[in-house]
Amino acid sequence: MDVFKGESGTSEWFIAAAPPAGSSVRLRPHRHRWGLWGPLVRSGSRRPGEEGHAAGLCGPIPPRHVLGSWGHVCECWLYPEEADAPGRAARAGADRLQEVRLGVQSASNGLACEVCDFTVAEHPSRPPAPGLSPVKHSWATMTEAIQSHIGSLSWGHRLALREKAVTYVNSYGEFVEHHKVKATNEKGQEAFYTAAKFVIATGERPRYLGIQGDKEYCITSDDLFSLPYCPGATLVVGASYVALECAGFLAGLGLEVTVMVRSVLLRGFDREMAEKVGASMQQLGVRFLRKFMPVEVQQLEKGLPGRLKVVAKSTEGTETMEGVYNTVLLAVGRDSCTKKLGLEKIGVNISEKTGKIPVNDEEQTSVPYIYAVGDVLEGKPQLTPVAVQAGKLLARRLFGGRSEKCDYVSVPTVVFTPLEYGCCGYSEEKASEVYQAENLNVYHTLFWPLEWTVACRDSNTCYAKIICNKLENDRVVGFHVLGPNAGEITQGFAAAMKCGLTKQLLDDTIGIHPTCGEVFTTLEITKASGLDITQKGC
Ligand SMILES: Cc1cc2nc3c(=O)[nH]c(=O)nc-3n(C[C@H](O)[C@H](O)[C@H](O)COP(=O)(O)OP(=O)(O)OC[C@H]3O[C@@H](n4cnc5c(N)ncnc54)[C@H](O)[C@@H]3O)c2cc1C
Repeated sequence: MDVFKGESGTSEWFIAAAPPAGSSVRLRPHRHRWGLWGPLVRSGSRRPGEEGHAAGLCGPIPPRHVLGSWGHVCECWLYPEEADAPGRAARAGADRLQEVRLGVQSASNGLACEVCDFTVAEHPSRPPAPGLSPVKHSWATMTEAIQSHIGSLSWGHRLALREKAVTYVNSYGEFVEHHKVKATNEKGQEAFYTAAKFVIATGERPRYLGIQGDKEYCITSDDLFSLPYCPGATLVVGASYVALECAGFLAGLGLEVTVMVRSVLLRGFDREMAEKVGASMQQLGVRFLRKFMPVEVQQLEKGLPGRLKVVAKSTEGTETMEGVYNTVLLAVGRDSCTKKLGLEKIGVNISEKTGKIPVNDEEQTSVPYIYAVGDVLEGKPQLTPVAVQAGKLLARRLFGGRSEKCDYVSVPTVVFTPLEYGCCGYSEEKASEVYQAENLNVYHTLFWPLEWTVACRDSNTCYAKIICNKLENDRVVGFHVLGPNAGEITQGFAAAMKCGLTKQLLDDTIGIHPTCGEVFTTLEITKASGLDITQKGC
C-alpha cells in the first residue's frame, strides 16, 4: 500500500493510494471498531494522550458523515475516482483534502489522521452512542418485522371492510361489457359482477428497463422489504423520490450505495431543493453517477447476494462504464395498471403517452358512471393520503349528499431521504410560471439544528425557503424545508397554508425554541437581496 503524507498547519496527513475503482474500503478510527465505508483511518487530537478519543464521542451519526467533535476528525472517506491521484491529495494539504473528502471538517483544527490500509467492509454499522455497545443490524429481523406490520395492516383493512358490510373479492378484475366486470382469482376461477357505478383504483407497478438481464437479476422497490438477504453494495437506478429514499435507507444501514441518474434528481420538485437533497446524500457517502443509464446487467456470481456487472452508457455521448454490485435496484418509474382492464371495451379514455386515466374535477372518467382515484389518475400527485382523500370525498359525493371535491394543489409531501425534504405548494420554477418571477418574494436561510451543533455536524446543509406572492399580500405559495423531521414540520405548515398563510402571519407567529420549524418565523433574507445566509459552524 502506498502512503502519502501531507501537511496542514500542525496537522499531518497520511493518505493511502486510491483503491481500485468500484471497490469498497473500510474506515476505522483508532481504537474504535465501528465499521464505516471509506479508507481505514486513525484519528486523534493534538495531544498524544487523546489519540483516538474522539470517535467515542460521536454518538449515532450516520456512516460516512463527518464526525468532528472537539476538533477531532473521527471519520473520513474516499471515493476512488475522486482520489484518482493520491499524490494530488497529498500535495493539496487539508483544504484540498476536504475537497476530495479525505480528512474533512476538522482538518483546520490541527490533528493527525492516518490512512492505514484498505479492507473490504463486510458488516458496516454505525458508531455506538457514548457508553453503548455497537448496534448490529439484522436484515432478516427487519424484513420480518416489516412484513408482519404490512400483514397486520391488511388484516385491519379487511376487518374494517367486513364491519361496513363490504364484500372483499381477492381477484383480478377486468371490464367485459358496460356495467360488468369479470373477476378471476388465483386459481383461475371466474365470477362476474354488475354495478351501477365503478371506481378504478388499480395503481401502478414498477417498470423495468427492457435491457438484457434486468428482469432476471434486478429488483425493484416492491421487492426490497421482502428480500431474503441483505442487498450489499447496491446500484440504485433512477432519481425519483422512490430511488433516493431506497438509496438513502440502504446507505443509512451502512451499505455502499451508488445512484445512477439519467437526467435530473427529483423531477417535478423544486430544482434547488432537489440538488440540496442530492448533496446531503453525497455527504452521507451515497455516490452519484450522473447522465448514465444501464444497457446490460450480467450475473458474475450467484449468491445471497450475488455479484452483478452493470454496463452503462452515457446519455450525452458514446462513453460507456462498468461497475460491479451485489444488487441492482431499478426505480425508473411505474406503469399504470390500466392496460389489461378492458377499458377499451367500454370506452374509458386513457392517455396514450402515460397510460393514465384523465378525469374531471369529480374524478369522473370519459364514461360517466366510471370514476377513478389514486395513482392511475393523469396529472395528480401520487401519494397515499391523496388517494384516500379523493376516494373518501368521492364516496360522500356519490352517496352522502355532499359536494366537497379533492384539492390536488395544496398537497404537502416529503422525500424521506436520510435528511428529509418537505414541501407544500409550488416549486420556485412553477411559482414563476404561475405568478411571474417579478411578483414573487423568496425568503430563505440555511440553518443549523441544535442537535447538530454539539456533534459538530455541518452547519450549512439544512435549508428553509418560502415563496410568497406579492400580489396576494405575500401569501405563501411554496414551502420548502430540508432538515431533520421535515415531514413533521411540513404537515403543520401545510394546514396553515390551507388557511391562507402569509409572510406577515409567519412573522407574527411565536417560534418554539429550539426547533427547526422555528426558522420559518424568523425568515428575513430574500433571495433577491443576495445577502449571505450561511451559518457559523464548528
Ligand atoms: C417505494 C414507494 C414509496 C412510497 N412512499 C410513499 C410515502 O412515503 N408517502 C405516500 O403518501 N405515498 C408513497 N408512495 C405512493 C403510494 O404508495 C401511492 O400513491 C398509493 O399507494 C396509491 O394508492 P392507489 O390505491 O392508487 O394504488 P395502490 O396502492 O398501488 O393499489 C392498487 C391496488 O390495485 C390492485 N390491482 C391492480 N390491478 C388490478 C385489477 N385489474 N384487479 C384488481 N386489483 C388490481 C393492486 O394489486 C393494488 O393492490 C410510495 C410509493 C412507492 C412505490
